[in-house]
Amino acid sequence: MNRRKFIKNTALTGAGLTLGNSLMGCDEKTSEKTKNTIINSENGSKTSLPLVIATWHVKEATAKAMEVLQAGGNVLDAVEQGCMVEEANENGQSVGKGGLPDRDGNVTLDACIMDKNGNCGAVAYLQDITHAVSVARKVMEDTPHVMLAGEGAKQFAISQGFEPEDLLTETSKKEWEEWKVEAKYKPIINIENHDTIGMLAIDKNGDISGACTTSGLAYKMGGRVGDSPIIGSGLFVDNEIGAAVATGLGEEVVKTVGSFLVVELMRQGKSPQEACEEAIGRIVNKPNSNYKDFQVGYIAVNKKGETGSYSIHQWFSMTKFQNGVNEQIQSDFFNKS
Ligand code: ASP
Repeated sequence: MNRRKFIKNTALTGAGLTLGNSLMGCDEKTSEKTKNTIINSENGSKTSLPLVIATWHVKEATAKAMEVLQAGGNVLDAVEQGCMVEEANENGQSVGKGGLPDRDGNVTLDACIMDKNGNCGAVAYLQDITHAVSVARKVMEDTPHVMLAGEGAKQFAISQGFEPEDLLTETSKKEWEEWKVEAKYKPIINIENHDTIGMLAIDKNGDISGACTTSGLAYKMGGRVGDSPIIGSGLFVDNEIGAAVATGLGEEVVKTVGSFLVVELMRQGKSPQEACEEAIGRIVNKPNSNYKDFQVGYIAVNKKGETGSYSIHQWFSMTKFQNGVNEQIQSDFFNKS
């Protein structure tokens, strides 16, 4: 749908269409600093902005992003600060500090960020810096490039004031040492309770941004980079249409340019849910697909504030913060056999 058609089909105004606390959800109420914007869709349903969604069960992260938006903050700040919550969480073993290392014991991070104007930045194979998403943002804003990798990314981060630190926690080191006994490499479906954190947000004006950050697959080969820093695969934002972000086996996401695909399917008129389902279909319907052995999940949002999520296997979830309600939503999935 092009911009003109979108404007025709939706009413996106602040005028008179606001939600007060009476309609706000129950357990976690938002500040009253900014009022919500109501969008009327063609089918008569209503959604309200701002809105934040993220992969997996990350309520503290979505709460942080919503706090930024409700304070009238920038939507790019919201997704960055939301992702930073999980990067700093040492108990999350798939993101930032405390992430499980590669087979040589090195924690290496991938992240990217994309704004409403289509600007983007990414880091791949970054070591010793907790907030990979913030380095990605610096790449976007302070360099002429889109992606920095490895030692160059680390040196750039240090030059921007990021403090190097050891990201391998005692817990993750112990698990790696136990893994080394057999050193069997096999991508595991749903490593602990979340893998990549991917976050998409829309502010009350309808502007979209997204970010994602991960330590990638546990015990991967040294030098391996997944989908998460690759714009179009791990994340894609098109402010006219919507946005999508991926989690799971990055190789399979890259082979289908997954997040770009989801956004393009929405451009063709599919709902976020239908688009996520078709993008998963592209993976599982390949000849000889061994999808039973790996997980991929997508979440998506369109310009109307409608959301969707879908995965290959059960137990993928999305956290959604909208209308004062911050909730975990179990995703529908393909493999029901
Ligand atoms: N997509 C990430 C990667 O392949 C990992 C994950 O989300 O589990 O690096």
